[in-house]
Amino acid sequence: MGCAPGDARIQQSLCRMHQTGSGGMKSGMAVNASGGLEFFLGRQTRRAVYRSCAPHFYKARCMPYRLLLSELDLGFTTLRNRVVMGSMHTGMEDRFWNYPKLAAYFRERAKGGAGLIITGGISPNRQGWLLPFGGTLNSVFDLRNHRLLTDAVHAEGGKIALQILHAGRYGYQPFVVSASALKSPISKFKPRALTLAGVAKTVRDYARCARLAQRAGYDGVEIMGSEGYLLNQFLCPRTNRRTDAYGGSLENRLRLAREIVESVRAACGERFIVVYRLSLIDLVEGGNTWDETVQVAQALEAAGVTMFNTGIGWHEARVPTIVTSVPRAAFAPLSARLKAAVKVPVIVSNRINTPEVAEDLLAQGAGDLVSLARPLLADPDFVIKTAEGRAHEINTCIACNQACLDHTFQNRRASCLVNPRAGRETELVYRPLGGQQTPRAIAVVGAGPAGLSAATVAASRGHRVTLFDASATIGGQFNLAMCVPGKEEFSETIRYFQSQLQRHSVDVRLATRVDAALLAAGGYDDVIVATGIVPRRPAIAGIDGPNVLTYVDVLRGAPVGRSVAVIGAGGIGFDVSEFLLHHPGEPLPQARDAWLDEWGVDLTVRERGGLKAPAPAQPVRDIWLLQRKAGKLGAGLGKTSGWVHRATLARNGVRMLDGVSYLEIGARGLKIAREGTEQWLEVETIVICAGQDSLRDLQPATPPADGPRYHVIGGAALATELDAKRAIREGAELAARL
Ligand code: FAD
Ligand code: NAP
Ligand code: SF4
Repeated sequence: MGCAPGDARIQQSLCRMHQTGSGGMKSGMAVNASGGLEFFLGRQTRRAVYRSCAPHFYKARCMPYRLLLSELDLGFTTLRNRVVMGSMHTGMEDRFWNYPKLAAYFRERAKGGAGLIITGGISPNRQGWLLPFGGTLNSVFDLRNHRLLTDAVHAEGGKIALQILHAGRYGYQPFVVSASALKSPISKFKPRALTLAGVAKTVRDYARCARLAQRAGYDGVEIMGSEGYLLNQFLCPRTNRRTDAYGGSLENRLRLAREIVESVRAACGERFIVVYRLSLIDLVEGGNTWDETVQVAQALEAAGVTMFNTGIGWHEARVPTIVTSVPRAAFAPLSARLKAAVKVPVIVSNRINTPEVAEDLLAQGAGDLVSLARPLLADPDFVIKTAEGRAHEINTCIACNQACLDHTFQNRRASCLVNPRAGRETELVYRPLGGQQTPRAIAVVGAGPAGLSAATVAASRGHRVTLFDASATIGGQFNLAMCVPGKEEFSETIRYFQSQLQRHSVDVRLATRVDAALLAAGGYDDVIVATGIVPRRPAIAGIDGPNVLTYVDVLRGAPVGRSVAVIGAGGIGFDVSEFLLHHPGEPLPQARDAWLDEWGVDLTVRERGGLKAPAPAQPVRDIWLLQRKAGKLGAGLGKTSGWVHRATLARNGVRMLDGVSYLEIGARGLKIAREGTEQWLEVETIVICAGQDSLRDLQPATPPADGPRYHVIGGAALATELDAKRAIREGAELAARL
């Protein structure tokens, strides 16, 4: 198939764009000097241009991702493709000594081809800090740090915009301000209502910050107006109870955002990108309606916005918007509606993690660019792999939040579960073996996440690696995890590792149970024991009965009764309970409409905030989820995902009991004691999810002096609080050292 500018798909997309141009402003379509098709968006300086290929950047001329890889000419500057790296707080932006590390992090993503990078949020003033002493750009003394970032990105041919984020009442610090003095449910600090003088100063602070950003070499700024931060707080009646010129009518509520855009534009001139991140659906009571959101967008467009980025839901919303169980691109129809209502380009966002999804969204007219945030943490080379026909090698973000957002909430540096180098680019370096170094013969036993990570990193550096697994497939426990509803994408990690094993010529021997004799015969220099765990079997009378199953049995499809007691409420107990809410083989509520109904989301946003009454599917089983310790079940789950699991189980009628003693299992079910009372839970099946113990019998008590070096990683090293984040990181760190 050719990739000429006249390609039908591009034409269709252009036509769609053309149809959305409206009003009295000049708009049209023409062929430019270089053969690209131009779509004029009203103002000469803010026109968007589609070109079918960008051959000076990508070697491949005929690509299946032509829209994604096409340039966007904004009139005064050109983005090399449609991939925007969305803003993510890494923790490094808050401390000046971390800027060299932050520069290395951005440089890798620019080198990997991202079209426009947006930094983590930087506050325009002290009141706007998310955390005490958060990152700022409010004096010339900050310029040096920020130039490190802009120089690094420009050196790789990328573009970078500074996100200006005023946290408003979400700030976790004592200086917080908001539209009105109303405390948020997610910060203990009650805000002060900004005075009129305070509002005027805030506008000036945004303009100063943007002007400094321009001096620091940024190509633009993104004004953070979504997720419930300050500008959202002014925009919505939920948080704006003012009676002055900034409260009451929509015109008044949007005044602050409009004045900020106007003052930033005036301070920085026309040749500067001004992105406004607009909340398309607030997902909280008292949020805006769709009509109001469109009015806000049109007012901000007139005020000088270059393009809109899109935000979904406030942080205090009780609807998940980015975790694994949210269907891919679930909210994209809203971006499509925004695109039809404005003339400037729109960036579509949320749960877009593959080039296929991204390309489809552009082809369907859901946006002009796509925002990939966590997917570029997971794989900085996402764009370049896409362009080089190596999309199958992309290390896909599985939306677990475990090393990125959960770290941020714990005040730790953000990283990535599937890519432990993220945020540690200068510290965890996979150096190819030098001329003096002899490749080592390495046996890796266990092809779970730990072994896969060790094997692929070691082989990529030049070592000779043999990888064994007793089972017939690679992936270890990830093969079970991906059976859980909403975790299907864990299979992407297995696919990624499979591609890396091939790329680096690892000798893979499956269906091979390794013993000491096999290792001795191999003559290896190093043996990496990554044999994982064995499920724990608690000593309860009757545990060997026919009505008892392990989580492994259940996830592999063993028949389970209509009433179930799950022993153990860790991550696996929760996952198994969710699995049991559905008939095996029944389609899961992954389809967008079923998911929206389940969580009570109305994409028409007729009512404020876009909420409707949730309509969960009828649960197919009666489930008890139990733990021995006292306290909330699932307390150890991730900060940003645990509440989703708890809410799902509660909505589906799962009964969660803490402080339970297990007395006996019999034909009647499970006998427990709780709060001094004994009772039988009359269930058909008991499922054991009681944790795990390490399996490392291959490690000799005393390794022979003339034998290989032994290393133990992942679950084999320590089963307590094991997760894939630690398993993959340990494998990579060990292999980087060998
Ligand atoms: P394993 O994955 O257990 O791999 C060990 C491998 O060694 C196995 O493939 C086994 O066959 C092989 N092996 C053992 N002995 C031998 C031998 N003698 N010879 C050859 N091969 C051998 N973690 C998260 O971080 N997030 C999650 O959301 C998450 N969800 C999960 C959901 C479920 C249902 C389950 C079961 C686990 C989940 N986990 C999750 C945990 C995660 O999968 C584990 O932490 C991770 O797999 C541990 O990796 P590992 O490589 O140490 O061990
Ligand atoms: P876990 O989180 O350690 O939970 C084990 C559960 O079993 C606990 O509820 C524990 O609580 C109970 N238990 C422990 N010993 C017991 C015994 N002897 N008798 C009865 N109950 C016992 O382990 P897991 O659920 O097996 O998960 C393994 C790892 O996978 C976890 O570390 C987790 O990080 C990871 N994982 C993560 C996710 C995620 O979403 N992030 C999902 C799945 C798995 P009591 O002792 O109070 O009863
Ligand atoms: Fe994605 Fe999980 Fe990595 Fe975060 S930690 S970027 S959610 S894979």
